[in-house]
Amino acid sequence: MKKLISVLLSLVLVALLAAPAFAAEQEDTFGAYEHVFIIGVDGAGRFFKDADTPNFDRIFADGAVDYTARAETITVSAQNWGAMLTGVSYLKHGMTNDSTGANERSSDTKYPTIFKYVRDAMPDAALASIVNWGNISSGIIENDIDVTKIYPGDDDAVTDATCEYFNAGNAPALFFLQFDSVDHVGHGDGSKAESFLAQIETVDGYIGRIYDTLEANGLMENGLFIVVADHGHTIAGGHGGLTMRETNVTLAVAGKTVAAGGEMDRDTRNRDVAAIALYALGIERPEYMTSRLPANLFKDVVGETRSAKNDLADYILCRFAWLLTLCTALF
Ligand SMILES: [Zn+2]
Repeated sequence: MKKLISVLLSLVLVALLAAPAFAAEQEDTFGAYEHVFIIGVDGAGRFFKDADTPNFDRIFADGAVDYTARAETITVSAQNWGAMLTGVSYLKHGMTNDSTGANERSSDTKYPTIFKYVRDAMPDAALASIVNWGNISSGIIENDIDVTKIYPGDDDAVTDATCEYFNAGNAPALFFLQFDSVDHVGHGDGSKAESFLAQIETVDGYIGRIYDTLEANGLMENGLFIVVADHGHTIAGGHGGLTMRETNVTLAVAGKTVAAGGEMDRDTRNRDVAAIALYALGIERPEYMTSRLPANLFKDVVGETRSAKNDLADYILCRFAWLLTLCTALF
């Protein structure tokens, strides 16, 4: 008995001594990155899964990929890019395709974008956005916080401008890019068409070029690379509704502290991009944001439960929408 007690005591002692050592081995990923690169693919939904995308596959081979992240319950561009960049639902930020086309946005607003938070935390940092759809450049990202904005034309030009920007030695803390060609094809041909998947494959080539340029310039050593879609398309083409083809979107993250093969949890939204970006740069997220860190994304982060407290209407609506989509899929 004495021997048993002594063995047990030794085990407890070993456990106590080992615990701090184990804790010390965990990487603290809060603020582990100097750069966050967000690559938005308009209209691509979950369909990276169905396309032949060798670049996407190699970039995220050690990353975390979710093809069932949820879009906003209105699957329209401005509502979703707005949510990703502000970290709140469209019910709160209120941006629409019409409003973002008509208005120049300033940082004097209740729900500023993550660009504003990065600017406040890092007054001298370079910030940039290069987009195909001009609404994001002028109507979503603030115009008074010194963000370099390039609006070069089609996706080919977006890619050229991006590679040129990085090859010129720019190293922004936050970079946002949006491709629009997949959405154009989606509207015309629908999400089951060969041409739709072929366009995702073309964009995959652009993503590969951009990623390689970042690597060549040493920016991925402390960079977090995100590919995300705002919404998908129906089989007939078009979006705005609640079918899974419209609401399920790709969210993929690669970086030195991302859990390899990490599958994010079911409640992940494209809106979570805001939380992921701020966390990576070590900037505290404002309490009102309903964007959160998905489970199984960063090695040392258990993940956060989405709280209803800040946006009850969105919380209820999203759960209702989820049920509705499930029912539509079943029957
Ligand atoms: Zn869109």
